[in-house]
Amino acid sequence: MHIQCRFRRFPCLLAVAALLCAMLILLPRLLWAESAEPDTKVQVVLSDAEQAFLRQHPSITLGTDESWEPYVIAGADGRIRGYDANILERVNALTGANFQLVLGRWSDMLEAARERRIDGLSSSAVHDERRDSLSFSTPYISLRKMLLVAGGNPANIRSTRDLVGKTLVIQRGNLADEKLARSVAGAELMLGDGIKETILAVDHGEADATFGNIATLFAADRLGLPTLEVATNIGESMDQVFSVRNDWPEALSILNKGLDAIPQDERLSIQRRWFLNPRGDPEPRVTLNAEERGYLLNKERLRLCVDPQWMPYEYLDDEGRYRGIIADIHHALAKRLDIQLEILPTATWAESLQAAREQRCDLLSAAVETPERQSFLGFTPAFLDVPLVIATRDDQPFIDSILDVSDKTFAMIRHHALEEIFRRRYPGIHLIEVMNPLAGLEAVREGRVFGFIDTSVTIGYAMRKYQLIDVKIAGKLDERYALTVGVRGDDPLLLSIYRKAVESLPEQEVDQAVSRWTTVETVKELDRSLLFKMLGALGVIGLLLLYRERVRSGYNRRLREANRQLEVLSTTDQLTGVANRRKFAESMAQERVRAERYGSAVSLIIADIDHFKTINDSLGHDAGDRVLIKFAQLFVHKSRRCDLVVRWGGEEFLMLCPQTDLESATKLAELLRQRVAESDFGIERSITSSFGVAQYQTSETINALVARADLALYRAKEEGRNRVCAA
Ligand code: GH3
Ligand code: MG
Ligand code: MG
Repeated sequence: MHIQCRFRRFPCLLAVAALLCAMLILLPRLLWAESAEPDTKVQVVLSDAEQAFLRQHPSITLGTDESWEPYVIAGADGRIRGYDANILERVNALTGANFQLVLGRWSDMLEAARERRIDGLSSSAVHDERRDSLSFSTPYISLRKMLLVAGGNPANIRSTRDLVGKTLVIQRGNLADEKLARSVAGAELMLGDGIKETILAVDHGEADATFGNIATLFAADRLGLPTLEVATNIGESMDQVFSVRNDWPEALSILNKGLDAIPQDERLSIQRRWFLNPRGDPEPRVTLNAEERGYLLNKERLRLCVDPQWMPYEYLDDEGRYRGIIADIHHALAKRLDIQLEILPTATWAESLQAAREQRCDLLSAAVETPERQSFLGFTPAFLDVPLVIATRDDQPFIDSILDVSDKTFAMIRHHALEEIFRRRYPGIHLIEVMNPLAGLEAVREGRVFGFIDTSVTIGYAMRKYQLIDVKIAGKLDERYALTVGVRGDDPLLLSIYRKAVESLPEQEVDQAVSRWTTVETVKELDRSLLFKMLGALGVIGLLLLYRERVRSGYNRRLREANRQLEVLSTTDQLTGVANRRKFAESMAQERVRAERYGSAVSLIIADIDHFKTINDSLGHDAGDRVLIKFAQLFVHKSRRCDLVVRWGGEEFLMLCPQTDLESATKLAELLRQRVAESDFGIERSITSSFGVAQYQTSETINALVARADLALYRAKEEGRNRVCAA
């Protein structure tokens, strides 16, 4: 295998560089919480006409009323947030269009749209009389009508039937509400001039009720009148659409395609973000019963035991402040429960666990449920689900399954739950305990253990912080940490309070905590070479895992889709889009099993571009890259469906050909060689390549097979290049 070493180093670095670029593009998308949804969906397919339209109309303006919160919320900085803004952002991302909101008085906006000074309207309803100038999108939100009353519901109105003899106020000019009001028998009708007047009338007791929706509640809050209450929901829903000038059918169809492509759950989560929160709370409050409320009132503070050095999940900083992802989550929980936390300072997790066992603290910050711990702790549902990985030395191969290395020794943080789980599941495994991630990684570097097991986030963090460049994340475990809040076992009331608190914690808040502590900022500070190595080491896997960290029930479907895409990413070469070595290892292993079982033939073709360096040197690296892409495409084009084209290294490609014997594979290689030699690679000169071919032999290892193909390739080079040699 010494032949390979000559080539491998630089290509490897370049592969890492390519990865890095991909990461830098992906990282913010994966981790930034504000625009919450990572772009994992397939782009919408636009017709030629639509694409041409977008080129001619780089921006499309939709007007709406400046006061219609939370559809639009105008920030002091000129930024427009809100439901409509979020929806249009998604449409733009999905379609490549650029729909922009314009705010002003509604009547002005209507006129501007009619005169085509703007291109349409946001948050409008379908009105036939507007059809002469506008057409309408599919509805992008449908809000339930509600009957709203003053706080405490003084007139005791539970349904529209209770409105007999009561005063109902509605907004003047709101045709839909007027119609609805007339259908309510026995109520006296009053007209308010605007939404504010309407709300005030109810608040001051001049009217008993009004119609509205969740946006009305939102408006009430913004007016400083958070007293309005929902008496009941009424059957009617109100469809909101976008209106677009009717001589622009492409704009409408693009808009509709974009709206269609936003998955339902995503739309719901945007809806939740803006509408379910009229009170301005982070989210609806935890609903506690009287006993639970009483408990909290009588408690001055809760004592919390934490891991003082599990960065960035949780740790105590130099001043003893509790910080990190889990710390943020605990602060959010405490705020929701309106209770103070007191951190019990310890030096290690083991100490904290001991304190919990002795019931010196009320809560254990992040506890995985294990049988042993059930004797002294109760557990909430998981608030975070953390994937686990194995870190090894840089020079170790990647690990597909822990079972492949179960004879090795591993380090784990003392008393982390995994230890208990692991000892049970893999009884023969050798474990040593360490106090913190740094100690674990040091043990790996010094060769005292083969691997350190912890989360990708903690390991990545320690690698950055301590500049450990000779370790890498070599594999992931099937096991995960489902982190829950541990509650002292003798306090069932506190357990039920924390259960409710965790259950009501919005996913968004958890996501934000995670991204706050794992964003690019930390990466920016790094020196470049380390960054390269680290990202290479962490690789797609690490980041994927990191991304997967978003837990909790509702995410599953989206997670599956994201993971599927990430799986594709992690097995794909970033430059050429063909499979990478990881994918090859998987497929080859399967083919090998098949070959052993059924005696079928499997062959490998290795190709290496001749004098590729001179292309880079004379035409530049970009030209070199383009050649590589074209080269890969040519292979893919010539391959059968069952063949796998792999980027093996810099300018080396490999083709795995199932059901193919040496003779056929050699013929195929010869065909490829000719094709390469006669193809136009977009540079002034032609390109040749050399090939080595080998057929799998019974009981041969994969490495041995590759080595034989490599040796054949070496011979092809030696004999003058631009030729095929069979092993
Ligand atoms: P030969 O194989 O015929 O012996 O000569 P060669 O010039 O192809 O030799 P070698 O394999 O040593 O050089 C491979 C070169 O491929 C080195 C590096 O500059 C280039 N390379 C590796 N990966 C990439 C890449 O991703 N993009 C570009 N543009 N060049 C790459
Ligand atoms: Mg080479
Ligand atoms: Mg070469």
